[in-house]
Amino acid sequence: MEQTKVEVLTARDVPLGGPRAMTVRRTLPQRARTLIGAWCFADHYGPDRVADSGGMDVAPHPHTGLQTVSWLFSGEIEHRDSLGTHAPVRPGEINLMTGGHGIAHTEVSTPDTTVLHGVQLWVALPDAHRHAPRDFQHHAPRPLRVDGAEVRVFLGTLAGDTSPVRTFTPLLGAEILIDPGATVVLDVDPDFEHGLLVDDGAVRFEHTPLDRAELGYAAPGRTSLTLANASAHPARTVLIGGTPFDEEIVMWWNFIGRSHQDIVEAREDWERASDRFGSVEGYPGARLPAPALPNAVITPRKNPARA
Ligand code: MN
Repeated sequence: MEQTKVEVLTARDVPLGGPRAMTVRRTLPQRARTLIGAWCFADHYGPDRVADSGGMDVAPHPHTGLQTVSWLFSGEIEHRDSLGTHAPVRPGEINLMTGGHGIAHTEVSTPDTTVLHGVQLWVALPDAHRHAPRDFQHHAPRPLRVDGAEVRVFLGTLAGDTSPVRTFTPLLGAEILIDPGATVVLDVDPDFEHGLLVDDGAVRFEHTPLDRAELGYAAPGRTSLTLANASAHPARTVLIGGTPFDEEIVMWWNFIGRSHQDIVEAREDWERASDRFGSVEGYPGARLPAPALPNAVITPRKNPARA
């Protein structure tokens, strides 16, 4: 079977908001691609000198219909949510928050953090589970060695390791640190599509060169993936994957629904401080107000049809 070429998705800079506004590099969603598996949002940030940028300080805000995944390379974030969770987000440890029917949370870089560096990813929940109860899971995968790389599997299965973190659709998430000059071949599920996000290094993904902050997309049908690092230092990458998510979703602000009306209701519920989202204890400041809705009906997003 002839293999499709890797599609290169470039990032756009997005200010996170706040007084000094840390900027993130966003590769999902974009016009060419809404999702990879159920992964529907990918932000890459840093290395960011907190003394210059002010770091991360995101006031209480809601989520619905999705899960958030925080994965750091350096620095530390304090997470609080309306489940009552108060947890540190540390490098090499996944924090997966389920904002099914509704959750609220805050994310603040800790005072000891000098450099903040990592990714923030979202997972769309399938229709059958998009109103799941709010939940929070944590896991620190043991780094494992494969020929040419160090691998940390935070979601799903790769290189013989399986994460205990539960998901609602088949997913993969792993940090892969490729040795200088090395080529790594990893067996993968051919039903999965994959995306490789490059943090640093001269990386080739299935022979396609990727620059820093680019996300390479590989369609389903592959039984292995080849990652190469031509640079003289380790190359850090994050591999995401999953079975194609064929549902149409409506994304707006921090909400995922299936219709414009779902978004209108979620926004109203947040604005009137409904129990749907609960409240976050211990954050010294006001909650984030929802932005105004667009005048037009928010249209559903879906991936381009597969060849
Ligand atoms: Mn959030």
